[in-house]
Amino acid sequence: METDLFVAWLEEAARLVRADRDRLTELDAAIGDADHGTNLDRGLTEVCKALAGAPPDSPARVLATAGATLIRRVGGASGPLYGSVFRQMGKALEGQSGPVTLAGFAGAFEEGVVAVERLGKAALGDKTMVDALAPASRALALAVRDGAGVRQAVEQAARAAEEGAEATIPMQARKGRASYLGERSIGHEDPGAASAALIMAALAAVVA
Ligand code: ADP
Ligand code: MG
Repeated sequence: METDLFVAWLEEAARLVRADRDRLTELDAAIGDADHGTNLDRGLTEVCKALAGAPPDSPARVLATAGATLIRRVGGASGPLYGSVFRQMGKALEGQSGPVTLAGFAGAFEEGVVAVERLGKAALGDKTMVDALAPASRALALAVRDGAGVRQAVEQAARAAEEGAEATIPMQARKGRASYLGERSIGHEDPGAASAALIMAALAAVVA
């Protein structure tokens, strides 16, 4: 997985989030404060600008630039949370200048998910982005174990993220703004889980 693939991933993620910005914001209007679509659209647009301005020379640098930009430029909980996923992935791959193997990527992604779980003190079932990211990470690890290729692995990860996002609908939120609603958070998809599924779909799209 080459540097260009990681740049293309973030560009495609920006495109998909822009296209679904209103849906993400509507999901956040139901159980939050109606800013998730605009927050993430702005953040990923800034990431693309940063990548275009100073083209990084390794996957680690692409991911680190994305993480730092999201932390700096996105208001709301999701900026620091997504920022830490990408920053941690970048850290995990630091020192590797050439292409990253699928196993290397899966390991870095796992570290990114652990970073967001730690920062947000969120676990599977709390109705957050973790409910899409953790299943995606597990799918990547299983694909590596089974000797799958990159394409199959990221397709399975994208599917797992999508299923994980849908599975947040009947959950009651235990973290973030939505948790203030208590039982009234039940029956709505979590916006952060929905955007995480888009980000994984973006990776599957550029690999294909
Ligand atoms: P804010 O909640 O500050 O308005 P956003 O609307 O951009 O920020 O993002 C909301 C999303 O962030 C939620 O849908 C959820 O997926 C995620 N989130 C919020 N708090 C946490 C947390 N403590 N741990 C993990 N994810 C969280
Ligand atoms: Mg919000």
